[in-house]
Amino acid sequence: MGGSEQAFVNLAFETNWIAPLGPNVDGFEKDLMGFLGEDVHVCALSSGTAAIHLALVILGVRHGDEVLCQSLTFSASANPIVYQGAIPVFVDSEPDTWNMSPEHLERAIVDRMKHGKKPKAIIFVDLYGMPAKIDALVEISDKYGIPLIEDAAEALGSTFNGIKAGTFGDISILSFNGNKIITTSGGGALVSKNRSYVDKARFLATQAQDPAPHYQHSQIGYNYRMSNICAGIGRGQMEVLPDRIIQRRRVFDHYCNRLQDAGFTFQSEPDNKYYSNHWLTVFTEGSSGPSRETIRLALSEMNIDSRPVWKPMHLQPVFSAYPYYGEGISERLFQNGLCLPSGSNLSLDELDMVSNMIVSVMQKEVLT
Ligand SMILES: *Cc1c(COP(=O)(O)O)cnc(C)c1O
Repeated sequence: MGGSEQAFVNLAFETNWIAPLGPNVDGFEKDLMGFLGEDVHVCALSSGTAAIHLALVILGVRHGDEVLCQSLTFSASANPIVYQGAIPVFVDSEPDTWNMSPEHLERAIVDRMKHGKKPKAIIFVDLYGMPAKIDALVEISDKYGIPLIEDAAEALGSTFNGIKAGTFGDISILSFNGNKIITTSGGGALVSKNRSYVDKARFLATQAQDPAPHYQHSQIGYNYRMSNICAGIGRGQMEVLPDRIIQRRRVFDHYCNRLQDAGFTFQSEPDNKYYSNHWLTVFTEGSSGPSRETIRLALSEMNIDSRPVWKPMHLQPVFSAYPYYGEGISERLFQNGLCLPSGSNLSLDELDMVSNMIVSVMQKEVLT
């Protein structure tokens, strides 16, 4: 926490706004719009998953439709496709940003259309904070007239060409889950330049109540709005977001400086168009040194938590029957990739300890 979250939460209690609406929700949405710029509208929601679900509903994704989705991601990017009774079609990553490969995306679109089915939407991710090859993805989206959903759950504060991640999709989504760069304990947001999409999200997220004095519904609704208490935490967190980005990037720089000569490849900005919040610092093992699993187990023995890179969706038991277009990039990143401890509050001593641990695993490997 940054400091003023408690005061905003107290404000909710003092004014008796203990509901999924109120001044903190309005204030948090305003803060987000101010931060993102680019004339976007924002609807605060109960989670990032809810935001993806509403994005699909708003874009008209229905039973039997196909939706293209980045395979290398957290399952929450893909689950809402199945909530809609639609069919996920998974697309591999490219090796530069680790995000959706424009080449395989286009291949997938052409092939699905050959089978008589034009996909209804494309979900790409800014993984671990790294912006995707957004210009290429937007070009393909325009060429085939298929709307883009940007899953920027991990990328608040990242930019591409100087423009904030979370503003590039026809609809973009953010998450404020407890593990993200800033948190509301649990929460998310739907973002769009198209005001009617955001109005629709607000309507659907409050049980789709038609304007009438009685309760009247002509569509299926959801209970997806953010609590005014959680939004209070979010308002406090927005004050420290710029610090959090600096802290996460410092974590990345530290590991990079200490470890890149040891043969690891870090997920790093391909050129100066890309600016990552480095939500997590992630690397892949070198061709000679210890495997990522050897490193993970050695860290674990010292009570240091690290995690393999997301297991691609097309390899998940629950999604394995769905189509996939790729050439094994996401598989390789999963096999070789490790997420290092990346918390904003890690001290230089702690970062040194983790780096030294990894260096000592390498030296041990050389000796044995
Ligand atoms: C966290 C996350 C989500 C889901 O957000 P929640 O707020 O936890 O529902 C979706 N996509 C990605 C890539 C995420 O990391």
